[in-house]
Amino acid sequence: MPKKETKVQQLEKELLNKPKNVGEIDNNILNEAQKFCEGYKEFLRNKTERAVVDYTIPILKAHKYTEFQMGKKYKAGDKFYYNNRGKALIMVTVGKRPVSDGLRLGVSHIDSPRLDFKPNPLFEDIDMAFFKTHYYGGIKKYQWTTVPMSLHGVIRLTDGKTVKVRIGEEEGDPLFCITDLLPHLARNQMKKPANEIVEGEQLNVLIGSWPYGDEKVSGKVKLNILNMLHEKYGITEKDFLSAELCATPAYEPRDYGLDRSMIGAYGQDDSVCAYASFMAELDTKKPDFTTVTVFTDKEETGSDGNTGMRSLFLKDFLEDFVSAYGLSARHVLMRSVCMSCDVNAAVDPAFAENYERNNASYLNYGPVVSKYTGGGGKYSTNDASAETMGYIRSILEEAKIPWQVGELGKIDNGGGGTIASEISVHNLDTVDVGVPVLSMHAPLEITAKADVYLLYKAVLAFYNCTRPKD
Ligand code: MN
Ligand code: MN
Repeated sequence: MPKKETKVQQLEKELLNKPKNVGEIDNNILNEAQKFCEGYKEFLRNKTERAVVDYTIPILKAHKYTEFQMGKKYKAGDKFYYNNRGKALIMVTVGKRPVSDGLRLGVSHIDSPRLDFKPNPLFEDIDMAFFKTHYYGGIKKYQWTTVPMSLHGVIRLTDGKTVKVRIGEEEGDPLFCITDLLPHLARNQMKKPANEIVEGEQLNVLIGSWPYGDEKVSGKVKLNILNMLHEKYGITEKDFLSAELCATPAYEPRDYGLDRSMIGAYGQDDSVCAYASFMAELDTKKPDFTTVTVFTDKEETGSDGNTGMRSLFLKDFLEDFVSAYGLSARHVLMRSVCMSCDVNAAVDPAFAENYERNNASYLNYGPVVSKYTGGGGKYSTNDASAETMGYIRSILEEAKIPWQVGELGKIDNGGGGTIASEISVHNLDTVDVGVPVLSMHAPLEITAKADVYLLYKAVLAFYNCTRPKD
């Protein structure tokens, strides 16, 4: 017989907000999460925004999504997508309510921090050939040396053909990395501040060391590499000028931990939210409100550019979609709600002093809802209203999905933004929802499977909610 609760215990239960590890709420969640995360690991093998879009479109087609047609009046249950330059994607499921009642949007980004090649990347030094990079996104540069890397991207030739590059991901492929100085000679290096231990111009990917077998030419190692690239891809050095190439960590997404409760992989910021919202989008059949799932690019460099969230591509697409009903996008958007799906920082006991414990997110405590992001003094943040927080909260609680709040670290410790402010600029209610991550922006990021799965459930509940916003 369980002991009867005392009056004070009852009072505690009623009055206090005590977040719990979801494993204590329902220990079976991990089993469901395991299954869900098998698909997530597959998704994570796509390490650039282009790879994600290429991977996603055939799946959309298999789920009866068709390419968006301007002027078409879609009906409830119709599914379609819009591909922005192979780097950003919009997926829609039309709801039963008129579009004028507003949309339910889930927006995530599919670019991740990495090392982009410079336009003129190939050079030879001390009989070795390298690719010169300019890092993309906010990284601790010293973390990226001696990490197994792979090469990705596209090269556009002058005849209009595009060559796709993906080397270092398959078994039997060669390995690449950024080299580092041996500790024996690092006395001076180790005295430098961490942001100077490895400098931007030292992030060069070693790619070859064997000379071309000819006495008469100089730069024989570089020439040998170019010759190989020419044979494989038909390219010359000038073709790098019209290319987007990068190096990313090469290792496979894997189960993490003896209990396999986590995922260790590159690019979980923000593929974790992209995958969870993608699955929710696929599983939403005939919702009340029309759902719009967006994969955007360029978040890690500030969302500028025509495939980033500061571009008008989403607004313009919505204009084209809703004008078929005689509506204008702004009137639809002002009645819409958006989950801006991005990761937050999970408390790490090794660095616990950087978090304010009552307002930080924890692994295995469920999806994290961040009222605001930004930096000290709440600069540059969307800051969701009480009403929007209340709306999301009511959906999550009704669906019995455990969730937590999260602030990105202590007030004056730094900070960081998400695309929520790029979305709310269009006058719709937006809130950040995501998954807590350990070692964010490192070559190996860690998430908890239960959180990944529960984010999917959260977005699914949001997409299928019948409750109008007040
Ligand atoms: Mn992110
Ligand atoms: Mn990020």
